[in-house]
Amino acid sequence: MHEMALTQGIVDICEQNAGGHPITTVVVSIGALSGVVPEALEFCFEACSAGTLLEGARLRIELVPGRACCQECQSEQPMERLFDPCSQCGSFLMQIISGQDMRVREIEVED
Ligand SMILES: [Zn+2]
Repeated sequence: MHEMALTQGIVDICEQNAGGHPITTVVVSIGALSGVVPEALEFCFEACSAGTLLEGARLRIELVPGRACCQECQSEQPMERLFDPCSQCGSFLMQIISGQDMRVREIEVED
């Protein structure tokens, strides 16, 4: 499963940055165009965090809306799904500006 590997990556990043302290909250931002399913991430998080500094931590997911700029008519617009055409001229030459990635935004650790 795609999300399992991603979640493992999140756990690794958090552990590397926690300085050995137990982690209480992890904030992850997921782009609407990243292809990551938030529910699947939540599901995997519990399994991946067991036995690590993240065990029992709260996973907070922030969704980042997609935005793209049309290469034909230069209009900037929201994009709900990858490969959606331009809402102004129908072109598929869309350059994605935001919402395509997933990242760990914040980690809260216990003192
Ligand atoms: Zn256009």
